Amino acid sequence: LPVLAIVGRPNVGKSQLVNRILGRREAVVQDTPGVTRDRVSYKAEWNDKRFTIVDTGGWEPDAKGINASVAAQAEVAIDLADAVLFVVDVTVGITATDEHVVKMLRGTDRPVIVAANKSDDERRDLEAYALWNLGLGEPHPVSALHGRGVADLLDLIIATLPDVSAVAKQEIGGPRRVAILGRPNVGKSSLLNKAAGEERVVVNELAGTTRDPVDEQIELGGKTWRFVDTAGIRKRVHLQQGADFYASLRTTAALEKAEVAVVVLDVTEPVSVQDLRIIDLVLESGRALVLAYNKWDLLDDERRRYLEREIEQDLAHVAWAPRVNISARTGRHLEKLVPALETALESWDTRIPTGKVNAFVAELVQEHPHPVRGGKQPRILFATQASSQPPTFVLFTSAFLDPQYRRFITRRLREVWGFDGTPIVVNMRVRE
Ligand code: GDP
Repeated sequence: LPVLAIVGRPNVGKSQLVNRILGRREAVVQDTPGVTRDRVSYKAEWNDKRFTIVDTGGWEPDAKGINASVAAQAEVAIDLADAVLFVVDVTVGITATDEHVVKMLRGTDRPVIVAANKSDDERRDLEAYALWNLGLGEPHPVSALHGRGVADLLDLIIATLPDVSAVAKQEIGGPRRVAILGRPNVGKSSLLNKAAGEERVVVNELAGTTRDPVDEQIELGGKTWRFVDTAGIRKRVHLQQGADFYASLRTTAALEKAEVAVVVLDVTEPVSVQDLRIIDLVLESGRALVLAYNKWDLLDDERRRYLEREIEQDLAHVAWAPRVNISARTGRHLEKLVPALETALESWDTRIPTGKVNAFVAELVQEHPHPVRGGKQPRILFATQASSQPPTFVLFTSAFLDPQYRRFITRRLREVWGFDGTPIVVNMRVRE
């Protein structure tokens, strides 16, 4: 989906505007598998057109950290979004912090839409039009609070966004898109350098690809891959505050562009909360997943003894993800990354014909019927795979299935079809 990033300093009403945009829709889609954290991206829809909103303002710095944090938000927006919605507070006007962002936005070829928020009535429109002098085009007066002007703004957003993400469009049938993710110092940039250095870095001759200098095309295992948001790996942003939020933002935005994620873990350190958070973001995004255990050259016997047990415990929920043990320093087993990526993508693309899904369900129900509940037997009437990328199944049932039974079905789907390297989604539709 095309990505709209919302940028602006704290208190201009970004969150309220996001709520307005989402609230106008019939239903909030996003199936979040039980992950609690600050949300960054939302699926939105207007006039049958769907897009992703990335709210870069989910974390509000104090006065000292404002400039750095707003600049970091703008940077992610410019690098990774298809269009930027810049929100200004008309009751305050332009501040020094805004000026900073304006400079960055003027320098980009991404379309920028200026929303003059808190234009609660017509008297404010005059102040809104004063924002013409930002040099970012026509300012659009809106009131996120009252909803004034929001429909017009949404029309404009839809008209401005490409049909599919610009990046995705360029590449139908092109190289597959990989995001390298991981907390700081696990070896992401070392891995990238090694991968780019071992094999030839493909010089970009494709028309239209130069506008994405944040990505790199790298040849690995005889194939060309597009590594997305490598700029985010190469440039390091040092923030005193909000570094975690900024990292999540960057990760979320990179996932939006990628098809498969390589989550890099440091073999010398136990799996951390931050590692698990990153993995959660991948699961939420529905992208394929490969785990790369890096710094294998530093693994000692003692650590080795704990490693397998730790993986079994902490990474049990992603036991289906292919794992490669590598050393970005020595280049050990880097070539194993390619089959792992291929396996994960193949699973991610898989489509099981409806006949087979129903045969699977029939057999499963016969062997392990759903427990009788309140004198009744919940039945599965029909099942189908509604989509791939990731494989998403829909079960039409006579009543809600117990969570345990749903987990059992998911487990069996994996036993039968593998799906190594991809999350799978099992949804239910209850027909009374
Ligand atoms: P990033 O923050 O994830 O991009 O991590 P870097 O690539 O900058 O690596 C962090 C540190 O770990 C650097 O000092 C690297 O030299 C070191 N490092 C990265 N990969 C390996 C590895 O495979 N083995 C060893 N011994 N050190 C590594």
